[in-house]
Amino acid sequence: MSEAIHAATLTLDTHVDIKWPDPPDATQETDRCVDFPKMQRGGLKAVVFIAYTPQGPRDAAGHQAAADRAEAMLRHIRTRADGVARRFCATADELEAAHQAGALAVLSAVENGNAMGRDLARLKLWRDLGAIYLTLTHDGHNDLADAARPKPALGDGTAQHGGLSDLGRQAVAEMNRIGLIIDVSHAAKSSMMQAAELSRAPIVATHSCCRALCDHPRNLDDEQLDMLRAKGGLVQITALDAFLRPPGADGKSPATVADMVDHVDYAVRRIGVDHVGLSSDFDGGGGIPGWANAGETMNLTAELHRRGYGAREIDLLWSGNFRRLMRRVQGMEG
Ligand SMILES: [Zn+2]
Repeated sequence: MSEAIHAATLTLDTHVDIKWPDPPDATQETDRCVDFPKMQRGGLKAVVFIAYTPQGPRDAAGHQAAADRAEAMLRHIRTRADGVARRFCATADELEAAHQAGALAVLSAVENGNAMGRDLARLKLWRDLGAIYLTLTHDGHNDLADAARPKPALGDGTAQHGGLSDLGRQAVAEMNRIGLIIDVSHAAKSSMMQAAELSRAPIVATHSCCRALCDHPRNLDDEQLDMLRAKGGLVQITALDAFLRPPGADGKSPATVADMVDHVDYAVRRIGVDHVGLSSDFDGGGGIPGWANAGETMNLTAELHRRGYGAREIDLLWSGNFRRLMRRVQGMEG
């Protein structure tokens, strides 16, 4: 029964990193968690591949290097996406059409607004290259916003802007204008709450979990979850062990797929099934026993079904909610 649901569902993983530089050929079986053969095998129909840039020095040279890297990664993701039985998609309509045609769907996004430097025009360039979202920060404050995890090695204190900077506020307005989704994973609570208040469009945490179940700075507390619901947003629960269960005596977190679905259950009870989704953070630290790579994606659907989620709810969790959010954000352009 859960096999049939899984086969019919447009399963979308909203956060998957790629190796950079020198990405392997994803059309072949690789040593990465995600490649096209593993997606086929696991029934993972769609992924958002990430143009990630680590936080570095915030000077002109640092910003230029980050901008160049993000743009090169976006172009790579797009170029390598199109092929036999797979397509690059930048809208909800394209994503659904790919699924209807039986093709795998590849989407892209930028992680770390630092890659914008101080040039708001880069946001439109990324959207034109097909990116669907921008994660405002990574670990370490940038010129847009404070991060949930500062980087003392870069001179960070606990907070720099007290949330969003003036530039960050301008970026939020520009992202609304051009239909680029605002991702608040990695952002400090102050940044996240201010972005939710300011944005005309709903926002998303593309790879975070629930702080009530695991007190990790990357997770969202109840007030943040409530804010996401109030603004029509989403939390995409992710398969990263340290966000799912506190570490044991050995320093390792013993999280499994059951723990991940505990976080899904918690978020659904708190803010409703219309505001929750799923992601892996594969190849960026994610992967747990039972969902260690894209080839095992069926196990997550099976656990959801075992907990009582039916075909409709499983569709909402896997992509129905995210497709609705894409349409809201992309329909508010102009
Ligand atoms: Zn991340």
